[in-house]
Amino acid sequence: MASRAKAAVIGAGPAALAAARRLIQHDDVGVTLIAPGGSADLLAGVLPVLTSDRPVDDFRRPVSIDGVQVVAAPAESIRANGVQVEGQWTDVDVVIAAPGLALDRQVPASASTTAAGSSSGHAMFSLWDLDGAHAAAPAVAAFERGVIDIVISSPLYRCPPAPYGLAMRLATRATSLGLDLQVRLSTPEPRPLAAIGSGVSEFLDSAARSSGVEIRYEWAPDIEAMRQGRLVSVGGEESESGLVLVIPPHHVHPLLADLVDPTVGFGQLVPVDANGCAANGVFVAGDAVASPFPRASAPAVMSGLNAAEGALARLGIDVLPTASLPEPDCFVDRGSGDYSRIHISYPDGAPPAGAPHVVIGEATPAATGGFDDARQRWAELAGD
Ligand SMILES: Cc1cc2nc3c(=O)[nH]c(=O)nc-3n(C[C@H](O)[C@H](O)[C@H](O)COP(=O)(O)OP(=O)(O)OC[C@H]3O[C@@H](n4cnc5c(N)ncnc54)[C@H](O)[C@@H]3O)c2cc1C
Repeated sequence: MASRAKAAVIGAGPAALAAARRLIQHDDVGVTLIAPGGSADLLAGVLPVLTSDRPVDDFRRPVSIDGVQVVAAPAESIRANGVQVEGQWTDVDVVIAAPGLALDRQVPASASTTAAGSSSGHAMFSLWDLDGAHAAAPAVAAFERGVIDIVISSPLYRCPPAPYGLAMRLATRATSLGLDLQVRLSTPEPRPLAAIGSGVSEFLDSAARSSGVEIRYEWAPDIEAMRQGRLVSVGGEESESGLVLVIPPHHVHPLLADLVDPTVGFGQLVPVDANGCAANGVFVAGDAVASPFPRASAPAVMSGLNAAEGALARLGIDVLPTASLPEPDCFVDRGSGDYSRIHISYPDGAPPAGAPHVVIGEATPAATGGFDDARQRWAELAGD
């Protein structure tokens, strides 16, 4: 190659970080990583940040990878050979986009809304990223009596076990502080993670109930009512509670909006070929991609590696594939600092042909049960 090829990587989640690290192994490629604030977030930090047990900075760090140039701004538009940032298009040779799923910022209408026209007059907060958790934390700390509603807005959301962990964390906290609180989890799903099978549904249901959590299955909230700060089911059932924590609808990221397949992933996910390439020639990785694996870190890393290898091949650089089948670890918060690890592997190949093998661990402290190790691996991925 006559001159160094230019690669742009969009995002700083596990998929983008893995892709950038894979690309930079090749001297022939210059890598620019573009992400808001130039920082990486570990989303599993949402729960301890929400309960004010840990600061945001424990789960957010600047991206610093030797040889990778970081642009601390959002990408505004992308094409196969270019990226627009702050109104300026820059030409590159390949683009890998891993911006994750977009949270619906209109549900509720603002970070904190006192319900208008609701008899309950509750405060309602949107969660599922670190900033949302940080904004809701003072209300959680101040709420000492009544019902906390945790509401899953729609069936597509990242880390399906995590709302159950959130409910257990809040219920266990209330018990240990002697608070007169009831935690109620509502979901449009008939059962949690029914697709994975192997007892995960039963485990989440029984662990949450034995922590004192009330669960309402097939309880779909009226999204338009939530936009106005009211909690009502699509069937018209109004909920009386003091504090509502909403896992908002997850949508395709605006950068990828033209690429979704309306028939998969509730019309919010992007199909890619075996090299991670979407229909417009952009390589796409991570939660944004239509894939048979759960929306979790290990599948995101795997698809980031796969997209990077696809991009290197397009640049004419021969590489041996490193990507293999992912082994996701989902850490289910059990409260009081304990986590149960749900480990998923695919000994018989990728789904749907190969069934997942699932091992559900006992509740174990973060330091010994794998949660702290996962945080350490994330920190090492983000920074040298
Ligand atoms: C509460 C919670 C708990 C979780 N627990 C676990 C767990 O225990 N185990 C597990 O494996 N997974 C867990 N997950 C899921 C896991 O975090 C995601 O599957 C994973 O982060 C997806 O990686 P990603 O790289 O695709 O996207 P993301 O991690 O979502 O990263 C997207 C990146 O793109 C950036 N971005 C967004 N817009 C732009 C733009 N316009 N331009 C440039 N960059 C942009 C963002 O700032 C971010 O850096 C959890 C998620 C949540 C919410």
